[in-house]
Amino acid sequence: MTNDTVATSLKDLPGTSVDEALVIDEATTQWQGEFDVIVVGLGAAGVTAALEAKESGANVAFIDRFEGGGTTARSGSVIYAGGGTVLQKRLGVEDDADSMFRYLRNEVQEAVTPETLQQFCDDSADSFSWLTSNGIQYSGALFPKKTSYPVHGNSLYYSGNELAHAEEARPAPRGHLADGIKSFTAFGPAFIAPLIKSALKKGVVPIRKTRVSRLLVNEAGDVVGVEAQQVQGNALTLFQHKFWSTLASYSQIYYAPAAKGFRLKLALIEKKSCKTVRYRAKGGVVLATGGYILNKEMTEKYLPKYKRAMKLGTTGDVGSGMALGVSAGGIAERLSTATAWRFINPPVDWPKAALVNLKGERYVNEALYGATIGTKMMEENNGEAVLILDKKLYDDSVANLNLKNSRFVTWAQAKGAVRMARTAETLDVLAAKCKIDPQQLAKTVEQYNTAARGESADVLGKKQEDMRELTTGPFYAINMSVGKGDITSVISLGGLRVCEGTGAVLNADGKSINGLFAAGRTAIGVASNAYVSGLSIADGVFSGRRAGKYAVKRAKGEEFTGDQRTPMALKSSSKSDASVSELAGCDS
Ligand SMILES: Cc1cc2nc3c(=O)[nH]c(=O)nc-3n(C[C@H](O)[C@H](O)[C@H](O)COP(=O)(O)OP(=O)(O)OC[C@H]3O[C@@H](n4cnc5c(N)ncnc54)[C@H](O)[C@@H]3O)c2cc1C
Repeated sequence: MTNDTVATSLKDLPGTSVDEALVIDEATTQWQGEFDVIVVGLGAAGVTAALEAKESGANVAFIDRFEGGGTTARSGSVIYAGGGTVLQKRLGVEDDADSMFRYLRNEVQEAVTPETLQQFCDDSADSFSWLTSNGIQYSGALFPKKTSYPVHGNSLYYSGNELAHAEEARPAPRGHLADGIKSFTAFGPAFIAPLIKSALKKGVVPIRKTRVSRLLVNEAGDVVGVEAQQVQGNALTLFQHKFWSTLASYSQIYYAPAAKGFRLKLALIEKKSCKTVRYRAKGGVVLATGGYILNKEMTEKYLPKYKRAMKLGTTGDVGSGMALGVSAGGIAERLSTATAWRFINPPVDWPKAALVNLKGERYVNEALYGATIGTKMMEENNGEAVLILDKKLYDDSVANLNLKNSRFVTWAQAKGAVRMARTAETLDVLAAKCKIDPQQLAKTVEQYNTAARGESADVLGKKQEDMRELTTGPFYAINMSVGKGDITSVISLGGLRVCEGTGAVLNADGKSINGLFAAGRTAIGVASNAYVSGLSIADGVFSGRRAGKYAVKRAKGEEFTGDQRTPMALKSSSKSDASVSELAGCDS
């Protein structure tokens, strides 16, 4: 980890519109409301924190800048779950927490400590049942083949690289898709709407159209409440705020250029009609405001390699939770870590081809998951990716491209890419047309064919059954580089350093900041190194529930120092063991 990925002061986090924490006198402050726990942000992490805290008997409020739902509501609704969930059992899938752990450990490496990852896997099946007990439904079938996103009617699929790593861990489908309207599987509201409904029914107090802009602390530096900018006005103002925020959040996903204009309208309403309000939190404040991918200044500073990728988020994704944490002494880290998604399946035949950069070199096993491909493409290959097929593979992929095994949007994008494909009788001429180094391309394809025939192992570990010889002209090139054809999208993965046992935000000395917790994409978690479909929401649920639970413990004055766990960043730092254990307490 390099220093440029760490933020320790607000000036490291431009564009977040957060002020330094303010020391106040709790007794004389005018509070608009007092709660045991205040959750800031109502996405996957926030709503599960609020529910967990409420179920533990606390007086809980959530505050959201908009209506709630966040990026979770615009997501594909996939949650990564396993170890024998009720859905896996119903669909006859065998899985256990150990296989899930071994697979994920390989995937996310040292995102969190092995103990935390083990806990994530051990808790997964029960946590999934808890979600269903709060209203989410999963009535679909199992989609047995590898795909980037299954067609409607399926609730379970291989959402990561499980099949490619079958030797290391018994593969199981773990991507769970929630039922939407009329059992149409997928899309974020299917996941988050039942949870919000359940939270409100259980008595969580909603505070909407309210942007938390600073933390309030006492003389000792403990977080005791929040200051926020609340939209106040007549029914028309409130309606307009809801209208533009909804349009901005949808259009960022479906037609990003329009979103800018809608966000401007929102900013004007907020400027004209916001009043400053203060809410007290006796037990804790949970920061769950999502990531920072829509913060232009921060992405330019920390993610310059991803400039040409589509920013996948909603209006609240500007890093304000990270800034709030840092303003109270926390540390935001791994800010240069992101995941870029470039899916090449369906059609099922494309991953059998060779994907090269403009040097003519392959750099990734094409059969892997789209985020593994996309992140390699953006991080190490200047966003370049050209898929090379021969006539037979091209014809097969066209024949297999249908709405039976792919969703409409994927189908339409793949159709477009097929139509835009370049073609030539020989690889040499094709390389010239695509500005690829012809000599290296010839070498690459020769090496690829040798592995496809089973005469040698593939240099990138691709299985022979996933490869096809590329021998019969004409040859085809489909440009999959960033900005070409189908979309390459990106989300940020960095966040606040937290105690892995309790979710408390840690200061520079590795000590918990009293009364401050973080979860979801605002915090470092299981998904902070690498992503497979469903892992961000799963991490949000895991870390959200953890933060909610410990915020309540603090509100009740319960002891929980024994539950603390040193985060990976401190364990893997270059410090000697002695100094690590000094820092390791994450004690409150
Ligand atoms: C198109 C798309 C598809 C995706 N599909 C999947 C998928 O299927 N599975 C998966 O795991 N991940 C998916 N992701 C990623 C995933 O949706 C997010 O990483 C995850 O939902 C983030 O959850 P969160 O709770 O951390 O934040 P969010 O869901 O973004 O919630 C944050 C909330 O905080 C609020 N907020 C922000 N700042 C403030 C403030 N200062 N004061 C008050 N409120 C504030 C926001 O309004 C928002 O409601 C997808 C993302 C996109 C865009």
